[in-house]
Amino acid sequence: MIDHIIPYGHQFISDEDVEAVVAVLKSDYMTQGPRIGEFERQFADYLGCKYACMVSNGTAALHLCAMALDIRPGDKVITTPITFVASANGFRYCGAEIVFCDIDARTFLMDLNKLEEILKASPKGSYKAVVPVDFAGYPIDEEKLRKLADEYGFAIVVDACHAPGGSFIDSKGEKQMVGNCKYADLTCFSFHPVKHIATGEGGAVTTNRKDLFEKVSLFRTHGITKDPALLERNDGGWYYEMQELGYNYRITEMQAALGMTQLSRLDWSVRRRNEIAMRYDEAFKGTEVKTPFRQDNVVHAFHLYVIQVEADKRKGLYDYLRANKVYSQVLYIPAHLMPYYRQFGWKAGDMPVAEEYYAKCLALPMFPTLTDEEQNWVIECVKEGLK
Ligand SMILES: *Cc1c(COP(=O)(O)O)cnc(C)c1O
Repeated sequence: MIDHIIPYGHQFISDEDVEAVVAVLKSDYMTQGPRIGEFERQFADYLGCKYACMVSNGTAALHLCAMALDIRPGDKVITTPITFVASANGFRYCGAEIVFCDIDARTFLMDLNKLEEILKASPKGSYKAVVPVDFAGYPIDEEKLRKLADEYGFAIVVDACHAPGGSFIDSKGEKQMVGNCKYADLTCFSFHPVKHIATGEGGAVTTNRKDLFEKVSLFRTHGITKDPALLERNDGGWYYEMQELGYNYRITEMQAALGMTQLSRLDWSVRRRNEIAMRYDEAFKGTEVKTPFRQDNVVHAFHLYVIQVEADKRKGLYDYLRANKVYSQVLYIPAHLMPYYRQFGWKAGDMPVAEEYYAKCLALPMFPTLTDEEQNWVIECVKEGLK
């Protein structure tokens, strides 16, 4: 019997993390100092992309991508219903019409065959952006998406909030890190404490396109620039220009310092998460629990470990686990069924695969400091709870 709550996700803060934050507090800059740029450089180098822009959270990252792509009211943007609502909201802020595309029954990611059907049904250029989500940490097939983007003319914004440290092998046999933007135009990350890198609040946009990077950076800080190359005139050292209506979506120096020490443990975190996943896979072999889909050419980042059980047993299992201090979670309630999105005409039955997924899914505790003893307890409770 375990006597404490086991959550579905939890941050890990080391002594090194604490020291890094304290050092910032004793320095001259709490925000707009040198650490933000350092974190951006380290993150971009880790992923293998040209540019990273650190922002205040993952939702701001998505909104900034929409702004950089000049999304306007009525522009159509496609995303998946099995995601946190921010994937859609970031584009709604710019007035986009959100079109949901149903998921693949194996991976629970946007079904790219269904996406192609949607694209085919309208003239080319009808959709401004497609926003797939690397749900649970499983990378979307970005290469296939690139082919569709080139054919139908849309921008790819990957919501990779679940997948830093994930990767896939492309058709040329080359390893591609999620977020390197080899195939995507932009990629978004979140540093919320349940995610791999925890800075309290925080997020990032990555890209290889200088034009998009410059726009994201400008919109992050009020649309204000001091860059002499971009100014319309220059009155002197104090002079800056507000060139666009931007926001204050900055990250702080404390968060950037924490992000760097957290980033140094990302590979370890993904390895440990995969170990935990393998132990769950083994434990549920031959039971009625359906475990997550795996494929050899993919490194799953395992933000979540989502099982599927019969729909009529799911609530009972959730309640049983809770009574035994295992705080599993149902992720996600399909976005198209949220009252806000239903007002645009979306309804039950529109996304049959996503809706069936939602009826059966349960995310079990998955975080790198989960002990074997805690995991054994989770496994025992799942098996008991299904009886
Ligand atoms: C966490 C998350 C976000 C939003 O990130 P915040 O940092 O909480 O704003 C967006 N999309 C997905 C898929 C997420 O999991």
